[in-house]
Amino acid sequence: MKKLLLLLALPLAFFSCETEQAVKKPNVIFIMTDDHAKKAMSAYEGSVMETPHLDQLASEGVLFDRAYCTNSICGPSRAVVLTGKHSHKNGFMSNHDTFDGDQTSLAKYMQGAGYHTSVIGKWHLVSKPQGFDDYKILLGQGEYYNPRFVSSKGDTSKIEGYATSLITDMAMDVIGEQKAADKPFFMMLHHKAPHRNWMPDSSYLRAYEEKHYDLPDTFFDNYDGREGAKGQDMRVDDMFWSSDMKLPIYEKKGDPGTGGFATANQARNWERAYNDLTPDQKAAWDEYYVPLIEEFYKTKPEGKELAQWMYNRYMNDYTKTVQSVDDNIGRLMSYLKEEGLDKNTLIIYTSDQGFYLGEHGWYDKRYMHEPSFGMPFLVRYPDGIKAGQKSSELVQNLDVAPTILDFVGEPIPEDMQGTSLKTLLTTSEDADWQKSIYYHYYQGTGWHHVPRHNGVATDRYKLMHFYDIDDWQLFDLETDPDEMDNLYGKSGYEEKTLEMKTELKRLIAKYDDDTA
Ligand code: CA
Repeated sequence: MKKLLLLLALPLAFFSCETEQAVKKPNVIFIMTDDHAKKAMSAYEGSVMETPHLDQLASEGVLFDRAYCTNSICGPSRAVVLTGKHSHKNGFMSNHDTFDGDQTSLAKYMQGAGYHTSVIGKWHLVSKPQGFDDYKILLGQGEYYNPRFVSSKGDTSKIEGYATSLITDMAMDVIGEQKAADKPFFMMLHHKAPHRNWMPDSSYLRAYEEKHYDLPDTFFDNYDGREGAKGQDMRVDDMFWSSDMKLPIYEKKGDPGTGGFATANQARNWERAYNDLTPDQKAAWDEYYVPLIEEFYKTKPEGKELAQWMYNRYMNDYTKTVQSVDDNIGRLMSYLKEEGLDKNTLIIYTSDQGFYLGEHGWYDKRYMHEPSFGMPFLVRYPDGIKAGQKSSELVQNLDVAPTILDFVGEPIPEDMQGTSLKTLLTTSEDADWQKSIYYHYYQGTGWHHVPRHNGVATDRYKLMHFYDIDDWQLFDLETDPDEMDNLYGKSGYEEKTLEMKTELKRLIAKYDDDTA
């Protein structure tokens, strides 16, 4: 029947302007948030919050529940998405690096394919964006309130408002312009949220009272048998009291928290951020936080009570910044529907990596453990992908660029190291799909003191190597999903260890990682 319809349609298409319609390239919107944990999206199991708009996006397309990054930190993850290459190949290995914009990239290929290309929101690759016809990027990490944007016209402007909403407004403006110009567009829409220091929009400050969040079972982890987990500074109970907890610091000796970078003058930085709020924003802010601050200094919680108080503070602010993302995804989707662009637009929603919401006592990312190695990954494209699918295949941010090029009918460059997800997305299965994935975290110095490590993950097992301290960790995700029990060196696991080490070597060779 399908064939018959196609045959009937062909002559019509051939002789009319329908030709253009029939081959009209899909638009592409790649939406990436910053540090969005799967546990903060109700499309995933065990979510701590409701995200109705993201859930709807997932139900209208494909949800991947085993999607991972290759290097769990902001800048490097962005470089991987843009190039389809591992960090050691694109050169942006840690946040101390500068992206070499002269190299080939997804944006440049899309531009070459006749697309209008844009990046709106967080960039974080230091060098000037190349391959984009239009950009409006946050300066550096960007601010939640009244952020500064650098535009492709070369100007920097501070815009009053809340980052997540402003970025969405700007994106809709660019989409509107491209619709008017009848040009296919490729947009990278990169939110700052929910990156640290989690400043909620004023509408959410008034929305509801501080909620209680149960500490995860692994919150008081003592890292026994896992040397690589011991030296870090990313525990929730060591957070900065100022910028993270939003407390004024009255003592002269400064912030009691170490916050991952003990020598940072965070109390002063926080004062500056607070003073940057407009009088109206400040009024909404104070209305919520002043009673909390007063109560805290009156009751002065200590020990486990302090840890719970800090966890609640962290989770309340984090989830509220995600709530704004969810609202704005809803706003964007409504806009696309109104404009008739929702069917022929390929939308990918993901985060640059996951995040700890108290697992192992942590916030932040970097480790190859599930909460920060994994990330949400949704794909919606009504004209080309069936709704309501779920995939548990192991996919990575490395696969984004090849996937997008594949969907718009462009060849996938041979030097890209990822694989197109098109077969998985359109047929729900791919018998030849990879059974293991590679990871390499390079930023051993600076913030949070997480030692460098690489590793391999399969459907069930994970092997990590903290090579600077020669610590190996092997986990069975089926019997130990929280990754607490290091099986490396334990009797009975000799064969599995050897198998995983062999697989790690194979992947190092496959991806030509000469830094490993
Ligand atoms: Ca990030």
